[in-house]
Amino acid sequence: MDGIQLLNKDQLILVLSQVKTATAIHIGEDAVIQMANQAMLDIWGKDSSVIGKGLEEALPELRGQPFANMFKRVWLEGITLSGAETAADLNVGGQIKTFYFDFEYRAIKDDLGQTICVLHTATDVTDRVINRSIVQQVYDKEQALEREQALNEELSASNEELKAVNDELDQSQTELSLMNELLEARVAARVKDLSKSEMRYREISDELAALNEELNAANEELMASNEELLEAKEDLQETFDQMEDKEIALRLTIEAANFGTWHIHSVTRAFMTSDRLRMLFGFNPDQEITIDEALGQITEEYRSYVQQKLENALSGNGDYDVSYPVIGFHDQKLRWLRAIGNLKADKSGEFSSFTGVVMDISPLKKDEQRKNDFIAMVSHELKTPLTSLNGYIQILQRKVNGIGNEFINSSLVLAGKQVKKMTGMINGFLNVSRLESGKIVLSPSHFSLSNLVESAVEESRMIEDSKDIIFHGCDHLLIYADYDKISSVIANLLSNAVKYAPTSKQIEVKCELADQMAQVSVRDYGIGIQAQDVDKLFERYYRVKSDHHVSGFGIGLYLSAEIIARHNGRIWLDSEPGKGSTFYFSLPLNGKVA
Ligand code: ADP
Repeated sequence: MDGIQLLNKDQLILVLSQVKTATAIHIGEDAVIQMANQAMLDIWGKDSSVIGKGLEEALPELRGQPFANMFKRVWLEGITLSGAETAADLNVGGQIKTFYFDFEYRAIKDDLGQTICVLHTATDVTDRVINRSIVQQVYDKEQALEREQALNEELSASNEELKAVNDELDQSQTELSLMNELLEARVAARVKDLSKSEMRYREISDELAALNEELNAANEELMASNEELLEAKEDLQETFDQMEDKEIALRLTIEAANFGTWHIHSVTRAFMTSDRLRMLFGFNPDQEITIDEALGQITEEYRSYVQQKLENALSGNGDYDVSYPVIGFHDQKLRWLRAIGNLKADKSGEFSSFTGVVMDISPLKKDEQRKNDFIAMVSHELKTPLTSLNGYIQILQRKVNGIGNEFINSSLVLAGKQVKKMTGMINGFLNVSRLESGKIVLSPSHFSLSNLVESAVEESRMIEDSKDIIFHGCDHLLIYADYDKISSVIANLLSNAVKYAPTSKQIEVKCELADQMAQVSVRDYGIGIQAQDVDKLFERYYRVKSDHHVSGFGIGLYLSAEIIARHNGRIWLDSEPGKGSTFYFSLPLNGKVA
């Protein structure tokens, strides 16, 4: 570096003052201004008079701003502090204005590291900052505008949405109000219903209360019934035990009496029989038999009659109590059997069980036969003298007729009546025995029923002049029958009407057409017949037990019924005890006889 003159201090300061960049040099804690170039003075808005003054002294507006302190630190600590676009309020032309600077406070040190001064450089960037701020503001405004526009758009979109929502709301509102109306109407209807329901509820409540009471009562009854039921159950058990005893007794009785037993299923006709029954029909005890096989053993004249009775009983019409002779299948022996049956409907109602017993009545039949034979013989023997007695009476009556003796006359008439009565009785016995032995034969002819009834009434009047027999005649009803036997039926009914009506006089006889049948009735106003006797009157030798001592043998109605049956007719009666009876019989018009 020889030959080159180094710049002195003033020269250096001169150089620095020429630097474009605002530059100043400060010394000491108060940043006394050592040098400030024109650019710096321009920034400060001051002149060179500030040289030699502390910073705040030169620029009093800086008080309260950080710069003096910053200088102090740089001076004392030997550091560099800088700032960019830092605002500083400066008094320019008597007005405080804000400027922006990029600046640096740099401590300049000597070789010993001692701070000798602070180099202060600054660039006024106020325009840049302001411009930027304006640009920023414009930008901000634009941004704000854009935001506003976007917002506006959003708003209008929202508005439209709002409108749509509003429209929807409107519609909803309308719907709502419609619904409301509907709802109100429904509510009103419901309220009406409810009030109705309430009334009904009250009614039901009342009914329920009544029902409850009834239920309580029923409950009590039920309890009572329950007790009764228990009692009944006990009774039932007792009855059951008794029944069991009775069943055993019955079985023993059946065995002791040597009865055969049978059982018929009304639908399948299955025929179950006991050993004894099979033996009674002449089969082997272990031989299975059918109904037809059993019926086949009954003698021919009785077979269809028994068959008929059985069919009737099986279909529930009439009882089954029949006596019939059978010829044993193996032993060919004749036995008289009596069968009694009872039809009982099964609980299901689908069929009936027909059960019964069969007993051997051959010995009884033999006795009866002997008795019948005896009666027939006696009757026959009595008939001959009685006929001659009747003849003598008639001759006597004719002989004394001219004499005019009233006593003899009337005695003969009475004797004649008694003989007639006796003849009637004897004829009755004869007829019974004939009937029993199958010897009764009908001699039918065509005749008018009314004529027959009339003459029978006449005959009766002759025998019984104590009664008024009123005859209601009928048109000529032609029948085909045994004249004498039908006459005897009417004579018997009339004689009973006289016998069993001791205190009344009137007897009515009627003959008429009823249900296409010739019907005759005999009515009396006598003692009448109890219901329990009605069915038995037509049985042989049956007589009602009574205090009225009336003579008779109980064969008249039996004979009458047999005679009518053989004419395919019907005989029956109506009666009221104490008031009288009406006996009826009917015969087919021009009918066939058996
Ligand atoms: P009988 O008269 O000889 O006894 P019947 O066979 O004629 O026999 O009559 C049978 C029974 O019927 C009589 O014993 C009597 O008890 C009763 N009977 C018949 N007819 C009458 C009647 N008209 N009124 C009341 N009872 C009667």
